[in-house]
Amino acid sequence: MMFLAIYFFILGLIVGSFLNVVIYRLPEEKSIIKPPSHCPHCNTRLKVIDLIPVLSFLITGAKCRYCGASISWQYPFVELLTGIFFLAAYLNFGLTAEFFLMLLLLSALIVISVIDYKYMIIPNVITYSGILIGFISAIIFDYLSIFDSLLGIVIPALILLAVALIFKGGMGMGDVKLVAMLGAFLGYKYSLMSIFIGSLVGSVIGLSLMGLGVIDRKDRIPFGPFICLGAVIMIFFGEQLIDLYFAIFL
Ligand SMILES: [Zn+2]
Repeated sequence: MMFLAIYFFILGLIVGSFLNVVIYRLPEEKSIIKPPSHCPHCNTRLKVIDLIPVLSFLITGAKCRYCGASISWQYPFVELLTGIFFLAAYLNFGLTAEFFLMLLLLSALIVISVIDYKYMIIPNVITYSGILIGFISAIIFDYLSIFDSLLGIVIPALILLAVALIFKGGMGMGDVKLVAMLGAFLGYKYSLMSIFIGSLVGSVIGLSLMGLGVIDRKDRIPFGPFICLGAVIMIFFGEQLIDLYFAIFL
């Protein structure tokens, strides 16, 4: 138990390091496998010692060992976050099929959040394959019914599509596909709750930033990371929140 917990935390750190590569290369349509990792500034090919998650960053003082260019906090942040998510998923789900599916989904959510935050896009290649994998998993495994997965693909997406068409701007087609992917993995209730939590947190943060004068009305805030945050909260605290939701509203 303890050994596996540490194992999945370290696996998460390593996967997080790979997710950084995906985040860096996917929007620029570069190959994810080739070439090997290199410094984006001086192009020096990185050695194994430069690629140890979090530690390399701390040891070199957030700088490239070869040219001294500073390295973004995004790298250790994504690594650590993936490690924590993997550990939390193991403690929450144990060694089940659902656990491995959640590792996949959580990884996708991290990549989507950072890419949407940086580029204001959500790559189709992730959401489309996510919808497919989520639905096929619902057929193979019994943690979610096929019907719930199917409704999950359709209902939240239609609702968000209607919202996107009525209130132009803010939300995009990427967000619509994102909630379809969430529904495929988690079912329609969890996907709807992710939208609900995401909107709530997003509005509070958006309005606060406007109040503080950090952004103004014209600035677009990507909605994707907030939906992803909502999904992460639902993955770990979904049952409790659904109970609470029905207790308050019904
Ligand atoms: Zn360099």
